[in-house]
Amino acid sequence: MTEYIKCSHCGNEITPDSDFCPHCGVLFAAAGTVFCDLHTLEPGVGVCIICRKLCCEACGVRIRDRFFCCVHRKVKVEEDWAEVFRSTEISDAELVKSVLESTGHMVQGQNFNSIGFIWDGGGDSPISRSNINKPAKVFVPIPEYLDALEEIKEWRSVEEFHDDGLV
Ligand SMILES: [Zn+2]
Ligand SMILES: [Zn+2]
Ligand SMILES: [Zn+2]
Repeated sequence: MTEYIKCSHCGNEITPDSDFCPHCGVLFAAAGTVFCDLHTLEPGVGVCIICRKLCCEACGVRIRDRFFCCVHRKVKVEEDWAEVFRSTEISDAELVKSVLESTGHMVQGQNFNSIGFIWDGGGDSPISRSNINKPAKVFVPIPEYLDALEEIKEWRSVEEFHDDGLV
């Protein structure tokens, strides 16, 4: 059984032997002196919560109290979820969601409710999300972000292949 303690920085639960907090990326003193994965002479100041790379002041960034490397600074994060996909077409977001679910990811959708999305027989032009400017978003747990991104890439390359063959 694992006992948890609270991160002194963000208050989320972590294991007592952690060198860093996976929720906010803060490095604990117990980690000792560590160095940036990229700039190996610079002291590490935080861990990217997406890829878990150690960063120094130069290549890491704190956004809303969480630590990101320069590659993942643009990743949108809400609570413990990271946004892997967004689209003004709900159908695209729904596809991505089902692809990720079929590969065993936990998935959360946002703005999926189909306000004004109409398939009323004759209508072949559903009102898309672009009309109200609120993209549908797909989130996965932060630790699954990189995997999920790969799944989407893979799925897309297969999709494109199929499209070529079909039309
Ligand atoms: Zn924390
Ligand atoms: Zn990163
Ligand atoms: Zn660095």
